[in-house]
Amino acid sequence: MAKYDYDLFVIGAGSGGVRAARLAAMSGARVAVAEEHRVGGTCVIRGCVPKKFMVYASEFSHHFKTAKSYGWSIEGAKFDWAYFLEEKDKEIARLSGIYVRNLQNAGAELAHGKARLTDAHTIEIDKAGTKTADKILIATGGRPWMPKNLPGAEFAISSNEAFHLTELPKRIVIAGGGYIAVEFAGIFNGLGVDVTLVHRGPNVLRGFDDDVRSHLTEEMEKRGVKVMLGAQHAAIDKTAGGLTSRFSDGHEVESDVVMFCLGREPYVEGLGLEAAGVKLTDKGAVAVDEYSKTNVANIWAVGDVTDRINLTPVAIREGQAFAETVFYDRPMAFDHETVASAVFSQPPIGSVGLSEADARKQCGKVDIYLARLKPMKYAFGGDERSLLKLVVDCATEKVVGCHVVGPDAPEMIQMAAIAIKMGVTKTQWDATCAVHPTLAEELVTMREKYVPLGLGQVA
Ligand code: NDP
Repeated sequence: MAKYDYDLFVIGAGSGGVRAARLAAMSGARVAVAEEHRVGGTCVIRGCVPKKFMVYASEFSHHFKTAKSYGWSIEGAKFDWAYFLEEKDKEIARLSGIYVRNLQNAGAELAHGKARLTDAHTIEIDKAGTKTADKILIATGGRPWMPKNLPGAEFAISSNEAFHLTELPKRIVIAGGGYIAVEFAGIFNGLGVDVTLVHRGPNVLRGFDDDVRSHLTEEMEKRGVKVMLGAQHAAIDKTAGGLTSRFSDGHEVESDVVMFCLGREPYVEGLGLEAAGVKLTDKGAVAVDEYSKTNVANIWAVGDVTDRINLTPVAIREGQAFAETVFYDRPMAFDHETVASAVFSQPPIGSVGLSEADARKQCGKVDIYLARLKPMKYAFGGDERSLLKLVVDCATEKVVGCHVVGPDAPEMIQMAAIAIKMGVTKTQWDATCAVHPTLAEELVTMREKYVPLGLGQVA
């Protein structure tokens, strides 16, 4: 008789956990997965997927304006929030069902309930009893971080609630300057909500290329988002008319909803990691090595709970590398270098490799190629500009960064990422013939080095 109930017990049925569980089960291992909410995790249930539907829904208002410039008359267009939520929830339920079926088809068992470790091989699952496993994978993801000591913080919502608001607010204050803040600023603005985005830093999207950051802020403002920089909440008061956000710089803004997008934290609470002897990093994430192994010999962790690069495809690759290593005897470590990402702001961003500032620090001398232009689609009206930027390491002549703000930037960056990951040089990049007429062709036709003002260029 087997020593343990399972060969692998996975805690968390999100992107990373499901991929690892399926692959492990397909190797013939006896696998179980515990999930306390719905199968699919943040990405499918309250993240990337419903967010993208909201982006699509909200972009129509902008498309309607462009349509007018092409001769269309669009009168009386109205948005039905309740209808949208219903359709969105149907699709999310369908996708979650697919995840469940994929797990079952691979032969993995599913346990509904919160799981906690009582030692390195024993898992207690609410409503499903106690199980033992030879190996354990922690894939519990992250959850929104909310400030604890801010007066009135209890009146604010996080992204979790933004997907289920019973009514579309007339006014919203969004706090934060990261991915989620700028994406929801675009969503609510597109849906006709009066949006104030408040961020403590000098510009949004810290860590992204500085030209991208300032370009996005300008474009968001052109579309009507009010961006307040260098300010943060001091308090939120409930008033007869809604909520009053009081800021550190003395400003006050009235709104119906305040949404905090102040980062996410690894979800380790109540997991029993101490009982199993699993160590955390000083930021509270599960500490792992390059093979996603914790300090405990039979316990691994993948995805946002390890706080490496908190993106769905990264969690999937980490889950796959874990399964390949442990269940197929093919040691594999996911390479976290040069991972592209997209921000579904409006306009959206695609970015891969180093920002100009990071490249200057890491490579020394760099050449910059930059184009700012009006996308052809807006030739008949509209003030939108796109930004395309390449960062080239002078010593190796390699393209080490590519950054795009504009229509379809997320689609473009997937392709650019292949070349950059392969170590493409600027000469090879330029040898690629343009696809015309596109915005992307600008990327392969930038020949003149860009010298920013202050670095030698005359105004
Ligand atoms: P981010 O870490 O991207 O941004 C958090 C923001 O909150 C930053 O602007 C930060 O400012 C600010 N902040 C943090 N603490 C405070 C505070 N105490 N007071 C005021 N401001 C504060 O987090 P998000 O929640 O936006 O997203 C979480 C992660 O989810 C992302 O990093 C990304 O990995 C992933 N994600 C990816 C998406 C995509 O791929 N399109 C979409 C959504 C999320 P500062 O910069 O000054 O630190």
